[in-house]
Amino acid sequence: MKKISVFLTLSLLLILFQVGHASELEVYFINVGQGDSILIKTPNNKTILIDAGIHSAAEDGYNPFLYLKSHNIKKLDAVFITHPHDDHYKGFNYLCTKKGEKEFPVKTVYYSVTPGPEYGKFQSCLEDIIKRSDVNGQVSARGPPLEFGDVVFTVIYPEEPISQPSKNKNLDSIVMKMTYKNVSFIFTGDADKEVEDLLQGDLQSTILKVGHHGSRTSTSKTFLKKVDPEYAVISCNNKDGKGKTYGHPHDPALKALKTQKVKLYRTDLSGTIIIKSDGNSIVIIVENEVSQNSSELWSPGEKTQ
Ligand SMILES: [Zn+2]
Repeated sequence: MKKISVFLTLSLLLILFQVGHASELEVYFINVGQGDSILIKTPNNKTILIDAGIHSAAEDGYNPFLYLKSHNIKKLDAVFITHPHDDHYKGFNYLCTKKGEKEFPVKTVYYSVTPGPEYGKFQSCLEDIIKRSDVNGQVSARGPPLEFGDVVFTVIYPEEPISQPSKNKNLDSIVMKMTYKNVSFIFTGDADKEVEDLLQGDLQSTILKVGHHGSRTSTSKTFLKKVDPEYAVISCNNKDGKGKTYGHPHDPALKALKTQKVKLYRTDLSGTIIIKSDGNSIVIIVENEVSQNSSELWSPGEKTQ
């Protein structure tokens, strides 16, 4: 497989957007502070959102829906709620405001754990989004692949639909592989090493969304060898004012990635990270470029409280 990696700055990015290629897959790792929110635009113009971060206020700069608005997204063909942790589902609250409901009609909602008390006071909001959708339900490895034209999602975990949520909510994360021709992504939510050990099938992927914001609880060496990614993205940022200071990413995950010579991108350093692909080659666009040799890139996050 031929892979080309190009690093571009914002000015070039603007030009690229103007000449945008409709036949490309676009994956946006949105800088939502502490949390995950990943927007996928398929070549046949389907829009998919995996998680929505923790920031739900309408005018909050880390609210992913502001980003979606600025990119002229007007509907969501699918939404994935990977697991019941607030830095993944709270941002969906925007879809429960009058404005959000109108701006982003949601066609399909997928989740690992059916909304219940695990989602705290956001349970009813998530139930509402589900009620408004055309298709919804729990996903698991038992189900068929989810196809959006040539872009195919294969759920690897959980093995079966979850009937009894785990105490450790990370263990209920959806892990799935997304394939577009010769390029693939593996999305891990906050899956712990315990989950990584259980994963079956072909895990090899071009790009790894590092589990649990680069925490020491994830990214075992064995798992990393199986995925064998060329690129990895860590979604983390402790400077978001939410007081969530876990010090992500942690040293063991960074060391594992460095040892395996994976090219790393971090939203706390690079801002939103955009990966575009025609199914063979890859272009990576960042807000702030950080050299792979930079010591900053391979330094753990700081615990500030
Ligand atoms: Zn998380």
